[in-house]
Amino acid sequence: MAGTKTLTIIKPGAVRNEYVGPILAKINANGFHIAALKLIRLTKEQAERFYSVHREKHFFRSLINFMTSGQVVVAILEKENAVAEYRKLMGATDPLKAEKGTIRKLFAENIERNAVHGSDSDENAEIECNFFFARSERFSNFDT
Ligand code: ATP
Ligand code: MG
Repeated sequence: MAGTKTLTIIKPGAVRNEYVGPILAKINANGFHIAALKLIRLTKEQAERFYSVHREKHFFRSLINFMTSGQVVVAILEKENAVAEYRKLMGATDPLKAEKGTIRKLFAENIERNAVHGSDSDENAEIECNFFFARSERFSNFDT
């Protein structure tokens, strides 16, 4: 059965552009419950750990510099089939290829500064939610 939660990060460019409100509104309008939420600044170590699968990619250094360049909003989003549903709402990694109405089409600057992150599997959603939030910081509609 598909999972009910995913982790999103509203990235520094979108936070700087004051898109936090509009992006959260879009998330809510698409039926997601916000189960955890905070505004933080990632350390270099946190960003490197979070994106460690991309360590060998040509864009890794630039991505880490960008992700640590300002505040980010991290949130746990809940909905049936949350990972796939949120990836659909985010749109393609490259905003030029993102569908009309998606978060990245509306708010991304380019393929790196692409407004939001979303988990890519239930397994990674679990890891990423635990990366940012203690149990006491979560307010799930699903867990009892
Ligand atoms: P995310 O993991 O942020 O939800 P994604 O799963 O769509 O996005 P990934 O392939 O996991 O994309 O890449 C992680 C992040 O690295 C992207 O969101 C983007 O910020 C950056 N990135 C990916 N590809 C490129 C690229 N070709 N050039 C520059 N940055 C890139
Ligand atoms: Mg990814």
